[in-house]
Amino acid sequence: MKIHNSSSSLKEALLPFLKDCKSVGFVPTMGALHIGHVSLVEQASKENDCVVVSIFVNPTQFDNPNDLKKYPRTIENDISLLKNISKNIFVFSPNASDLYDQNISSKHYNYSGIENEMEGKHRNGHFDGVGTVLNLFFRTVKPNKAYFGEKDFQQLQIVKKLVEIEKLPVKIIGCPIVRENSGLAMSSRNKRLTSKELEEATLIYKTLLKVKENFKNSSISKLNNLVEEEFKNNPSLTLEYFEIADIETLKTSIYKGKKKKYRAFIACFIGGVRLIDNMALN
Ligand code: AMP
Repeated sequence: MKIHNSSSSLKEALLPFLKDCKSVGFVPTMGALHIGHVSLVEQASKENDCVVVSIFVNPTQFDNPNDLKKYPRTIENDISLLKNISKNIFVFSPNASDLYDQNISSKHYNYSGIENEMEGKHRNGHFDGVGTVLNLFFRTVKPNKAYFGEKDFQQLQIVKKLVEIEKLPVKIIGCPIVRENSGLAMSSRNKRLTSKELEEATLIYKTLLKVKENFKNSSISKLNNLVEEEFKNNPSLTLEYFEIADIETLKTSIYKGKKKKYRAFIACFIGGVRLIDNMALN
């Protein structure tokens, strides 16, 4: 499996596919691949003639230099996972100056306000960085369909807005969250946790499940208190935010509206590692 380190090398490799009007699927990742990523690549392989998987730790979406520095990088392991999926996978792992054409900075996006909720409040400039890098990737890869995990639900909604804003001819496909047997959502950041922390981190999933079970018969303020209590009783985890939000606007909900769809979202720290997760409630 060849790894393409420049846009020109990838474009050249894709040329024969594009000439025959074959469909290209795209799965953007930051590497340190796990079964969650594999599930996206498998779905993309089923639905397209070839799949481009990018492995790129995007500097412009990190507001915390330490988080960027400590982000796990396991390219050899990533390649062996991808090799087992299909022959028609192109790995694109550009260096930043090539992808950004020497200008490693973010464009500012207005995604109708959803960028100001949750992750947007806590990670300064994060979605500008995400939008900028994906816009560059989409223009290089020219995929028919691109696959994103519901694990990063707010990002999925942002990407849907991005393709409208940039008028990009790509269909965005959301894929379900893949979890460990313990319920913990798979994440590259889990690689930074000790076995004790991995066990403690299952509180996130257990709490989301409790919220879901009680959603019908409890007020949102009661559910907020329930989550605060759970985290207070487990001091190895520090809650950054818990929110129940309307899935369209991603605005924090105080009351439940009829016919609206809600999800619960958690961001927290354990052992200095930031984890996020979410769950559909109705
Ligand atoms: P990342 O490498 O963390 O930027 O993730 C790349 C893509 O994989 C994003 O679309 C994520 O939402 C998706 N992803 C990450 N973890 C999971 C998971 N546990 N289940 C499903 N998709 C995931």
